[in-house]
Amino acid sequence: MTHAMQHGAAAVYSDSSATVSPILEARNLRKVFPVGGGSLFGRQQTVKALEDFSVCLRPGYTTALVGESGSGKTTAARILAGMYQATSGDILFSGVSSRNMPGGLQSRKYHQHVQLIFQDPFASLNAAHSIRYHLARPLQIYHKARTKTDLEIEILALLQRVSLTPAEQFIQKLPHELSGGQRQRVAIARALAPKPSVLLADEPVSMLDVSIRLDILNLLTRLKDEENLALLYITHDIASARYFADTILVMYAGQSIESGPSEALIKEPKHPYTQLLLSAAPDPARNSVEPLIGKGESPSLINPPAGCRFHPRCPFAKDICRTGFPKRTEIQKDHWVNCFLYTDALETASSDIPAPAAP
Ligand code: SF4
Repeated sequence: MTHAMQHGAAAVYSDSSATVSPILEARNLRKVFPVGGGSLFGRQQTVKALEDFSVCLRPGYTTALVGESGSGKTTAARILAGMYQATSGDILFSGVSSRNMPGGLQSRKYHQHVQLIFQDPFASLNAAHSIRYHLARPLQIYHKARTKTDLEIEILALLQRVSLTPAEQFIQKLPHELSGGQRQRVAIARALAPKPSVLLADEPVSMLDVSIRLDILNLLTRLKDEENLALLYITHDIASARYFADTILVMYAGQSIESGPSEALIKEPKHPYTQLLLSAAPDPARNSVEPLIGKGESPSLINPPAGCRFHPRCPFAKDICRTGFPKRTEIQKDHWVNCFLYTDALETASSDIPAPAAP
């Protein structure tokens, strides 16, 4: 009997986003980076950064990608943003495969629709240029303002949309004259300038003062609602994901291991790693999760553990966990997990799926 079968009747949670067609979809992405410095015993060393990663982003909804440092979150976001090319797998925008997009994921049209917000608001703005310059550039590149007057109007409107007011005072400033939170608002305004459909926010608040994190997350949520954006919120903080995301996808050492509607996943986590994350992030609104023992560290992705990469840390690991990766099991509608506690079936390899077209 599997672990899932031992549970009694579970509460039913639904993912309302599942009825909305995805605007951006990743299917079975895999990413391997060659390691600099050459080979070991004649073999090129590689970092297996991402394995079989799939996600659907839907207009008007937030998906949180949750995991520790080195879990593959940023690699996934950068592939979605067209900054890295996947080793295999595919990305679809509005249902069109990247292989059939003119210019693929490097095209201006794709970048207009899919914008990435970086973690570090200090590094993402050029210290030598004013806020006007940072916002004028994307408006000009993506032809969102025809005249100088239009440009000025659009820049002021962007500043107002991210609550940097009075906008006239911010437009002339240099990045060093702004706080971290204000800089991140400028970075968000810059991402909004091309009128995108998708925002990929890579740890957007982790470098900000705790006191302003909530404001920035509320801003992103408001913008997502007002502009019907699909929002990917990348975070190591599963507690914040619960409050800001409709769906949570948990990653560990480059593997997607559990996903579901936020309430379901937080209240009834199935994967031992999700349970570990939650036991480290107490939340009074959640049913108690027994802390796991033997927490250990994330593995190296140069030579990751075979099978389920969590097995060296998992108190429930069985022999099969050390050799095979478990097939995805649907616990209930829209809530799935990859764990041998819920299935005996093995996942099929995805490495035979061809990579998107080269740039
Ligand atoms: Fe633990 Fe095995 Fe499940 Fe991995 S597959 S989390 S090692 S029980």
